[in-house]
Amino acid sequence: IDNPEDNKPAKQPDNKFDPLQLYRNERAQSKEHLYMVVIGHVDAGKSTLMGHLLCDLGQVNQKVLHKYEQESKKLGKQSFMYAWVLDETGEERNRGITMDVGRFQFETATKCVTLLDAPGHKDFIPNMIAGAGQADVALLAVDANRGEFEAGFDYGGQTREHALLVRSLGVSQLAVAVNKLDTVSWSRERFDEIVDKLKTFLKKVGFKESDVRFVPCSGLTGQNLTAGPTESELLEWYHGPCLLDIIDQFRSPERPVSKPFRLSINDIFKGTGTSFCVSGRVENGTLSVGDKILVCPSRESAVVKSLWIEEASKSVVFAGDQVTVALSGVEMQNVSVGNVLCDALRPVQVAMKFRARIVVFDVAVPITRGYSVVLHHQSLVEPVVVSRLISELNKSTGEVEKKHPRFLKKQASALVEIQASRPIALELYSECKELGRVMLRLGGVTIAAGVITQIVL
Ligand code: GDP
Repeated sequence: IDNPEDNKPAKQPDNKFDPLQLYRNERAQSKEHLYMVVIGHVDAGKSTLMGHLLCDLGQVNQKVLHKYEQESKKLGKQSFMYAWVLDETGEERNRGITMDVGRFQFETATKCVTLLDAPGHKDFIPNMIAGAGQADVALLAVDANRGEFEAGFDYGGQTREHALLVRSLGVSQLAVAVNKLDTVSWSRERFDEIVDKLKTFLKKVGFKESDVRFVPCSGLTGQNLTAGPTESELLEWYHGPCLLDIIDQFRSPERPVSKPFRLSINDIFKGTGTSFCVSGRVENGTLSVGDKILVCPSRESAVVKSLWIEEASKSVVFAGDQVTVALSGVEMQNVSVGNVLCDALRPVQVAMKFRARIVVFDVAVPITRGYSVVLHHQSLVEPVVVSRLISELNKSTGEVEKKHPRFLKKQASALVEIQASRPIALELYSECKELGRVMLRLGGVTIAAGVITQIVL
């Protein structure tokens, strides 16, 4: 009965048929990957916080750091050196030197964390929104300074909008850095006051209390970022984990390797010979060299010539991997950013109309039927129309409050129908989180975000 052989998983004739086992075998040694977006009001200290964290973890070239230190000293603003760590790379990105995400990485005890989009820029919000669509978890920075937290939270600041946005896009785990606590002498009262206010709000937005963690810290002094507190005033009352440990304690997101393969293309470039390359993150399933796949919405078939993660060539890649795929059998001009690569036998849905549960942000003009907006679906940017307002929903329970509302005001939660003018490749949120998230923008401002609940064929 106790024969250990009995507990062994059944042998697979071809291990391609057991993607989960294959994944476990391949990745047993490596750390779980986590994609994190940093959110918060402008000047909450996001850049300083992340820059300091990266420096402490040895992720920044010492020469570069020294240069920044000298330059910031000259300016008499030494605090800038950390924020520059992120800014510089942002510029490089603009010049096309770095590609896409995956630039800011650091490791915790059990995870490898990629920061989505540099929070270094002042035009961080659109970047943040792009990043939020791919995030597993979020880090919210708030400024503990008296008056400053309130400015970001109560008076039209971005704290609420960002938290609402990431939650509407399906992010359920949040770490809150109660930052700049050095400016209030590490006051426990101030920390508790902020935690109380945020807890109430975050619960309303739909975060579970147990999925939100708060950490007192200072991005500037580096206190409680990568090691426990040393400040005596903080030590008097705080003995919890530092920011890095809180990040380490995030639950690893599910990697749906057994679902049908999906990848949304975010870049296309020439390869060698007749093939060309696309890059993006594998959202669901696995992909192997030699696989025959479909490019949607055109439904053109293609063959996988080779696969890479960063510079390393792979024979198989899995959900959660950021990859480059060399394709053949399809013309480069027939493939666009925002197209979806998928399993040829179990393809994505292609439709011009769908229903989504959305949250409306602080719009000046209420959303009405026939409203023209720009749909952001992964890397796809497409003009669409809000063709129906089906119902307005209760924000905390999700129950229908009003059928066929005539308009949707700011902060409303609603079920709407979206009509595109040409087919797009879509997935229900319940089938594929990333391909089921949508954002609606107007004049460069996000006016709503949500998840696809029904595809109308
Ligand atoms: P961001 O806009 O959220 O990226 O904020 P920055 O990182 O650019 O910081 C805004 C300002 O706050 C800068 O002048 C920083 O030097 C300052 N700052 C950032 N973090 C701290 C902190 O922990 N303590 C103090 N006293 N100032 C900070």
